[in-house]
Amino acid sequence: MFQGLSEKLQETFKRLKSKGKLTEADVNEAMREVRMALLEADVNFKVVKDFVAKVKERSIGQEVLESLSPGQQVIKIVNEEMVALMGGVSSKINISSKPPTVIMLVGLQGAGKTTHGAKLANMLKKQGKHPLLVACDIYRPAAIKQLEVLGDQIKVPVFSLGQENPVKIALASLEHALSQGLDVVIIDTAGRLHINEELMGELKDIKAAVKPHEILLVVDAMTGQDAVNVAESFHGDLGIDGIIMTKLDGDTRGGAALSVKAVTGCPIKFAGIGEKLDAIEPFFPDRMASRILG
Ligand code: GDP
Repeated sequence: MFQGLSEKLQETFKRLKSKGKLTEADVNEAMREVRMALLEADVNFKVVKDFVAKVKERSIGQEVLESLSPGQQVIKIVNEEMVALMGGVSSKINISSKPPTVIMLVGLQGAGKTTHGAKLANMLKKQGKHPLLVACDIYRPAAIKQLEVLGDQIKVPVFSLGQENPVKIALASLEHALSQGLDVVIIDTAGRLHINEELMGELKDIKAAVKPHEILLVVDAMTGQDAVNVAESFHGDLGIDGIIMTKLDGDTRGGAALSVKAVTGCPIKFAGIGEKLDAIEPFFPDRMASRILG
């Protein structure tokens, strides 16, 4: 994960640490390298600009430059600003005090929506919840089957009404959950190859009907800034509460993970880190920054 970025930043940090005293020029040089490394990692241009400006502003004071270990101080500032960039604290899902909690998963085709519906259900089940997976992706018959197979693997019930209208399926699933004593409803909606009005219209209709407690957007980290653009569109059109960033296990760059909160204001709540059904973890900005900075 993020090997490219990590290696480059660690080289810069090594040089910083090896210097006893730092001048303003040393900091400027290091920040030039940090800027290059972030841009190569496909971090959003404006995010990089703001990030470097903040780190520089905090680093070029007498307090830092004249401290005992100025290199360490600068590295600490980079760490703190990177954590802040990703949202600071870990963001939890909003569990309703009145069950069922309704979670709506949205995203483009192939991002990992169906898989992450199952991963989320599996994780919540381990936490003592009783989830229900709902098949609202009616356009791809294989998607319904896929959800049923995944549900079977994790022993979580799947609600489906075949190719019926998705709003009707979503509403019926809430009644089903209530009657079965299931406390979290996870709705797998349809994806498309691209964002279009029809997709957004359908998602808005489902949102209006079921009033979800949480709309989570599933995006593929490996698509870099495209993932950030997708998040911006979904947030603008539909309004999302958080992001599930998938395929971080295969992401050598890290641009999407580092940019999306700053660009959209929406936090990453979960990270997908593999194909297996337990390969999901809450997203902790501080742990992520430590992974990158070493
Ligand atoms: P959907 O079209 O958005 O529902 O996408 P799927 O859930 O069908 O996932 C598309 C592909 O991505 C499948 O082959 C998944 O196994 C794979 N996938 C999903 N999440 C991850 C992840 O976090 N890591 C890896 N390596 N593969 C993933």
